[in-house]
Amino acid sequence: MSNVSSIEWTDSTWNVVTGCTQVSPGCDHCYAMTFAERWRGVKGNYFESGFDLMLRPNMLDRPALWKAPRRVFVNSMSDLFHKGVPDAYLDSVFDRMESVDRHVYQILTKRPERMRRYLKKRYGAEPIPAHIWLGVSVESNAFAWRVDMLREVNVPVRFLSIEPMLGPVNRVSFRGIHWVIVGGESGHGYRPMREAWVNSVRDRCVRRNIAFFFKQWHKNGTGRLLGDRTWDQMPFLVPDGVAKPPRNDSLKSTKGSSS
Ligand code: SF4
Repeated sequence: MSNVSSIEWTDSTWNVVTGCTQVSPGCDHCYAMTFAERWRGVKGNYFESGFDLMLRPNMLDRPALWKAPRRVFVNSMSDLFHKGVPDAYLDSVFDRMESVDRHVYQILTKRPERMRRYLKKRYGAEPIPAHIWLGVSVESNAFAWRVDMLREVNVPVRFLSIEPMLGPVNRVSFRGIHWVIVGGESGHGYRPMREAWVNSVRDRCVRRNIAFFFKQWHKNGTGRLLGDRTWDQMPFLVPDGVAKPPRNDSLKSTKGSSS
C-alpha cells in the first residue's frame, strides 16, 4: 500500500490497523469500508477479509524508515481506539510514535471514551508528547460530547474533523481546540453540506485564532474554494510544545460570512 496520502491535511498514512465497525451517521458512506469490502474474498489481496478488523504489526516500524520529518495520519483505514484493538497493541503503537519523534502523528477517532481511558492509563497526569496530535470526528451538534471528552485529554494539539459535515455545529464548543478541518461528503449519494454551516465554523475559528482547514465541498467538481479563497491553515508548535494559531488571516479576507 502507498504511504503517500492524497488527504490534503497530511503527508502519509500509517495503517497499523485496518477494518472497523460503524458507530454514527458519519460512518454511513465510510470510504475505507467501501474500498476494503471491494476486495473481500479475493485470495491473496491485502483486503481479502474486507473491512474486518485486523492488526497489522508488520507496519509498526514503518515510520522509522521515513528519514524526512512528515505529518503522519495514523489509521486512515480504521479507528485506532476501536474496542477490538488490545491495550498491548496500543502500547506498541505509542512506543513507536514516542521513539520516532521526528514526525507529527495525527490520530483521529470517533471513540474518544476509549482514547481518554487508554491515555489516562499510559500518561496519568503527564502531558502527551507534543508531536502526537489528537482529534475527534464530529458530523453535527449531536456529537458535541466527543469534543468534551477530547478536551479532557492533556495534549498540546487538539483538532476536530467536521467531515462529513451533516448539520450545523453551532452547539459544539471550540474551547481548547487548536485546529478545525471541515469537509463535505464525497461520492455517489453524498449528503449536502450548507455553505452557512461552513461559514459559521470558519468565522468562529478566525475570531478565536484557531487554525481552519477547508478540505472540500463534495468531490464532484465543486472544489476547495470557500468564498474567494482556499483555507489550508494548520497549527504549529513553538519549542515549549505549545500550539500557536496561524497568523495573517482575518475575517476581512472572507466573503459571504454568515455571522
Ligand atoms: S469510525 Fe471511521 S473508519 Fe470506522 S466505520 Fe466509521 S468512518 Fe469508517
